[in-house]
Amino acid sequence: MRDTLRRIGVSETEFIRQCDASFKQGSRFNGWVNGHADDVYFHPFVMPQGWGEVDLPSAWQAQHPDIPFADLVSYQPHLCVQGCAPKQTVTPEYAAVANYGYHLDAGKFGLFLRAHCTEKLGVRYLADHVLAINSHPDGDIASLQTAANGALEGDLFIDCTGMQSLLLGKHYQVPLVSQQHVLFNDTALAIQVPYPDAHTPIAAQTSATAQSAGWIWDIGLPTRRGVGHVYARAYQSDDEAEATLRQYIRATGGPADAGAVRQIKFEPGYRQRFWQRNCVAIGLSAGFIEPLEASALALVEMSATMLADELPASRAAMDIVAARFNETFSYRWERVIDFLKLHYVLSQRRDSAYWRDQQSTIPARLRDLLTLWQHRAPTRNDFPRIEEVFPTASYQYILYGMGFRSTFRPAAPQQAALADGYFREAASLTRRMLAALPDNRSLLAHIRQHGLQAI
Ligand SMILES: Cc1cc2nc3c(=O)[nH]c(=O)nc-3n(C[C@H](O)[C@H](O)[C@H](O)COP(=O)(O)OP(=O)(O)OC[C@H]3O[C@@H](n4cnc5c(N)ncnc54)[C@H](O)[C@@H]3O)c2cc1C
Repeated sequence: MRDTLRRIGVSETEFIRQCDASFKQGSRFNGWVNGHADDVYFHPFVMPQGWGEVDLPSAWQAQHPDIPFADLVSYQPHLCVQGCAPKQTVTPEYAAVANYGYHLDAGKFGLFLRAHCTEKLGVRYLADHVLAINSHPDGDIASLQTAANGALEGDLFIDCTGMQSLLLGKHYQVPLVSQQHVLFNDTALAIQVPYPDAHTPIAAQTSATAQSAGWIWDIGLPTRRGVGHVYARAYQSDDEAEATLRQYIRATGGPADAGAVRQIKFEPGYRQRFWQRNCVAIGLSAGFIEPLEASALALVEMSATMLADELPASRAAMDIVAARFNETFSYRWERVIDFLKLHYVLSQRRDSAYWRDQQSTIPARLRDLLTLWQHRAPTRNDFPRIEEVFPTASYQYILYGMGFRSTFRPAAPQQAALADGYFREAASLTRRMLAALPDNRSLLAHIRQHGLQAI
């Protein structure tokens, strides 16, 4: 998203100010391994120090098994624990000291993008209700019948109607491939939580805290927290889920009488195809699994990028592009399923049927990978595409963060020394960054008042 915003000419300062945005440096998982009080691990956004140069997991396991993997190979978990921002006040817009993404207010972001696109990029915007879809005799979509603007014709239609999937799902009847048997969560309860005062630290990562039938997200925006419980209705009633959410809010410093919750139901899954004739679905109309690891916006980014790169110049080219798009995104959705399921499969929790049942539905490809990883770390041979949704390093962070251990071949002495050098480098970077970076709230306050230096 950082790259996209920069490329389309958005000022990061204005984006942060107007969208109530804050910095995200990864995810912190609480209670996923065994549910004990000290059960915490990080999935940071920076690659491990020495990535690609040496087999870090085997050196970690042989030399420093008592230090959490991510804490040893990366400075970023330490920045998150200390609530540090990922950059300094003098770092220019979009540049990072530590790699980062954003937390933001989606409603404000929609309005902000609309203003930018219509005022600066020459996009024509019509707000209207789509009533029906009109077809050409060959089956292509000819136009959208709208309430106020009549028929809107086009050569190519992007279905971004959310879970309605009005064009691809309803009109073309492309079925949703349900993944509920693999990833059970199908409901979310979302709530906005005020900070107790204007000095409360703003978390620099998403917190994901495991519960008996799902997990709770906790996101720090500059003006409030966004908290939500995502759970499986087959394992927990809505009332129980709401009570669990309110209990979490009280336990984490929120008010006893936090406002109303918003319920969102979804069927986890993705469409059998994403591009049919002259219609391509992007966003929730293409599918939705659950918010763990924020894969939805990553897939939106990737879909929009491929569409822009491959925009068909003729109708004949469109079917070729469509076939490639479908193959690419089927692969990506399958990898998202594998990666999310990994979090549940590796858990040692057996305290509820929800956690116990996770073990019985492991996708075949993930099962194979887990067998390979018993004797070696995840490598790029496991994820060979140029652009994977989750890179190999992410698999290592989850695998070893969740207590997976492998029987590695003993490393050659020079490899062990090389790895140790990178571990020391990560520790030295940690010390320097902790000393140099402001806390997240201070940087956001600075941006609100003075802005960041434009690029
Ligand atoms: C519980 C939950 C948590 C999430 N958390 C994350 C997260 O942490 N990170 C992340 O990356 N993503 C997350 N997502 C996904 C993220 O919200 C979506 O990827 C993002 O909102 C894009 O959605 P969209 O534009 O496809 O659909 P929507 O935001 O649903 O927009 C669909 C639009 O289509 C319009 N529409 C529908 N029918 C018609 C019609 N007939 N005529 C005209 N307009 C119509 C609607 O009015 C709406 O504006 C989450 C989603 C859910 C459900």
